[in-house]
Amino acid sequence: MSDKALSDERWIEESLHKPEGFLTSYRADKVLYEEKTSEQHLVIFENAFFGRMMALDGATQVTERDEFIYHEMMTHVPIFAHGAVKRVLIIGGGDGGILREVVRHKDVEHVTMVEIDPAVTEFSKKQLTSVSAGAFDDPRLNLVFADGAKFVHDCPDSFDVIIVDSTDPVGPGEVLFREDFYHGAEMRLAEGGVLVTQNGVPFMQGSELKGTMEKFGRLFSVATCYLATIPTYVGGPMAMGWGTDNNQLTDVSLADLRQRFKQADIAMRYYTPDVHKAAFALPQYVIDIMAPA
Ligand code: SAM
Repeated sequence: MSDKALSDERWIEESLHKPEGFLTSYRADKVLYEEKTSEQHLVIFENAFFGRMMALDGATQVTERDEFIYHEMMTHVPIFAHGAVKRVLIIGGGDGGILREVVRHKDVEHVTMVEIDPAVTEFSKKQLTSVSAGAFDDPRLNLVFADGAKFVHDCPDSFDVIIVDSTDPVGPGEVLFREDFYHGAEMRLAEGGVLVTQNGVPFMQGSELKGTMEKFGRLFSVATCYLATIPTYVGGPMAMGWGTDNNQLTDVSLADLRQRFKQADIAMRYYTPDVHKAAFALPQYVIDIMAPA
């Protein structure tokens, strides 16, 4: 390729770990949409290998190629662990991937989704249609455009599962890592419910997980995480925070998970009951990060 053609290429930086001196970048073969919204910088572009991708404030949010791993593990682990989920709250999740996985559960009766930036949802619907796959049209959805940190204090309802599919603790997402938000979410949990949070890649962002676990430890009798490796959340396995007062949930048997999985009859690309159980087996460095100071 000529120097001119190379220089014409646009590469979009993943700058989340710039403070650690670690940058990755994705060739943008085509930029589909770019805007400084009222909340954040939003870009949706095409990459030859990962397909359509979205980045917010320089952090990769979702790619068509690997989103199934994250969305299946953030959604089906709490729902199958609980076993009788009727009401789900999603905080964030603007691209619709979590919503898509939640509504695949026919026994779920209601989903409230609270997204701070309407532009993310509006442009994901148009440019990332495979991610939401029509889920925004599901009649069980109550879509609210608001700050999730406020919503959990203002909303009177309760939910069996709360999934915080937030950006990282920068910009609008920062408030979703504060104890005040977690306390509000805990108040919204129905008896036996569980709070699950996007908690970054511990190898790169250990303090994020440590901070959440310290706060969860003050709010819940069970404060732990489970892991899944998403290629474009660089730096190793990602932690999904788990806070609940229902001690049964984490220890649900493989036999029960297999029975619920069979009953739900949902075709998966990553989740299996065995992967579910294995995800809670944590390596020592993650245990050490979570250990109380
Ligand atoms: N899967 C991605 C990840 O793990 O980083 C997150 C995807 S989703 C696009 C993150 C969403 O959180 C965005 O749509 C963003 O607008 C939303 N968000 C950020 N802060 C928020 C807040 N305070 N309340 C509600 N939604 C928020």
